[in-house]
Amino acid sequence: MIPYGKQDLSSEDIAAVVEVLESDWLTQGPNVPLFEQALANYCNANFGIAVNSATSALHIACLALGVGKNDCVWTSPITFVASANCALYCGASVDFVDIDISSGLMSVEKLAEKLKQASKNNALPKAIIPVHLAGQSCDMQSIKKLADQYNVRLIEDASHAIGGAYQNQKIGGCQFSDITVFSFHPVKIITSAEGGMALTNDKHLAQMMQKSRSHGISNSPGELLQESHGPWYYEQQSLGFNYRMTELQAALGLSQLKRLDEFISKRNALAANYNSAFSELSISHLLPKTNCYSAYHLYIVLLNKPDKQKHKSVITELRAQGITAQVHYIPVHLQPYYQNLGFKVGDFPVAEAYYQQAFSLPLFTKLTDDEQTYVINTMKALI
Ligand SMILES: *Cc1c(COP(=O)(O)O)cnc(C)c1O
Repeated sequence: MIPYGKQDLSSEDIAAVVEVLESDWLTQGPNVPLFEQALANYCNANFGIAVNSATSALHIACLALGVGKNDCVWTSPITFVASANCALYCGASVDFVDIDISSGLMSVEKLAEKLKQASKNNALPKAIIPVHLAGQSCDMQSIKKLADQYNVRLIEDASHAIGGAYQNQKIGGCQFSDITVFSFHPVKIITSAEGGMALTNDKHLAQMMQKSRSHGISNSPGELLQESHGPWYYEQQSLGFNYRMTELQAALGLSQLKRLDEFISKRNALAANYNSAFSELSISHLLPKTNCYSAYHLYIVLLNKPDKQKHKSVITELRAQGITAQVHYIPVHLQPYYQNLGFKVGDFPVAEAYYQQAFSLPLFTKLTDDEQTYVINTMKALI
């Protein structure tokens, strides 16, 4: 079976992890801050807060922005469930903004309309989480303009987009957001096995997130609320979690980061092969935008119109022929859990139409020419 995504580990990556295993620090050692610093530098952000998953990063990002009971958070229905769940963890509610079918990204027009309506009803969200689906940035400049107009905070879910760029700036620099979140799950672009990072330029937000990833505890002299009892002293100042990244994970992430640009070039080259091979077929692919350099986490194609039967049969047939086509994503509001919260079929019609057209083909750095040719020929025979 050719998977749709897969990690790319080098002998240097493996050696970096072994080195940690032979060292004194398996957790809370030097590699986590080194990884944070290296990725913050790469993205041109002031602070990086490494955690055990992007899901945890989204959670502490929401908390740092003050998301709580009686608040609402908006995200895209076409995302992994974690982009929405993070708000529920904080006791807030979730709502969605429908997408543009051409890009699969949150529609700025729909967002503008929805904000206008919410403002009238006194029901503005506390935060919005745009999702850079497949590795391409949302239109952050326009989204930021709207967010500022209505005093709403922004978290970029860039789980797919590390190494990509928007307006010639690396994604993660938070030029148009409060916080950006990356995932290092093995299927993503670089991996630390499990892991995530939140980036921000705001010192206060960084401190809040550092505290919540480790039990709400602080021991830095400048932050203490009471006088220190002695050299052993630490304070729990809020209710936090154990969301720490281990040294093994950080060493792996740090080592992988060295090849990030190489990974992104390879992914772009593979995507370009697909684009030209499929140009004659009656399918489209997510439209690249001129001001974006996609990280191409995913290569998503769309049937020319919503067709539940055909969608299912193409994906099933691809799998029967050894190609793991996958759907990114089932609209979150159609998940049983979210239906129980009151969301219904028909709530986000563009996302629902997209769901009957879209599927992802194998795209990862170790995909061989022969494998890609096989995928292309199988697609040509099927479509
Ligand atoms: C993978 C993913 C997440 C969650 O990442 P984890 O590191 O697995 O917690 C969140 N949002 C999106 C869009 C993702 O693709």
